[in-house]
Amino acid sequence: MSRRKKLYEGKAKILYEGPEPGTLVAHFKDDATAFNAEKHDVLEGKGVLNNRISEFLMVHIAQMGIPTHFIRRLNMREQLIHEVEIIPLEVICRNISTGSICKRLGLTDGERLPRPIVEFCLKNDELGDPVVAEEHIAAFNWAGPQEVEDMISMTLRVNDFLSGIFAAVGIRLVDFKLEFGRQYDGDMVRTILADEISPDSCRLWDIVSGKKLDKDRFRKDLGGVTDAYAEVARRLGVMKDQPNLKVISNGDAE
Ligand code: 5GP
Repeated sequence: MSRRKKLYEGKAKILYEGPEPGTLVAHFKDDATAFNAEKHDVLEGKGVLNNRISEFLMVHIAQMGIPTHFIRRLNMREQLIHEVEIIPLEVICRNISTGSICKRLGLTDGERLPRPIVEFCLKNDELGDPVVAEEHIAAFNWAGPQEVEDMISMTLRVNDFLSGIFAAVGIRLVDFKLEFGRQYDGDMVRTILADEISPDSCRLWDIVSGKKLDKDRFRKDLGGVTDAYAEVARRLGVMKDQPNLKVISNGDAE
């Protein structure tokens, strides 16, 4: 995509100027990174799958009344989104103990938590996205009290909703990461869901076999990463309209 002005390139996405003010085009790359980009690979087709899975989930989340930055998918790798000021926090919601919470708190891996736990991490690659308390968020003014309350309530609603969607197709939603942004409209500002929701940002385990269907396959060198993402897409009924679509494609057009 060279015809649009590139505004930002991240680890998994590129943001281009959108066709109208207040809009951006998000381009989903095939790059996979982990451990603060120490591990990097290109997984052909990952961007196409994440674009479609994220579209599917964002559309359903919007339908239940949670505002999101998603406007519409443009092509295999790109979606039109509302421009927001990203709140510099990652909001993590956990249903099952695994990953960093086990290391931090000495928990046994794979056990259902007493209730969903919402954690905030500061978005800072150099520091490795450290967990922060609401006290830090308030003191350093990373987000206001109303924004924190809104992020927690939206995250818990997204958790209930996505847990149901995934359970219906035999997948356990173990944990996930969300990002939120501020959307300005004159004097008004509202908190809306931003970024993506995909197997890059969720842990998804097959309910029967426990097989990991998410980015942990890349982090832990388990292999079959894009096959697992394609399995998630298939079960959700995403890309049903294109049964013969070759996921391995670098093109932007459908
Ligand atoms: P953990 O803190 O256990 O490493 O991750 C918790 C959940 O948040 C996992 O689903 C993981 O994929 C997601 N997550 C945490 N940090 C990041 C991040 O920087 N990028 C992405 N895409 N997901 C993250």
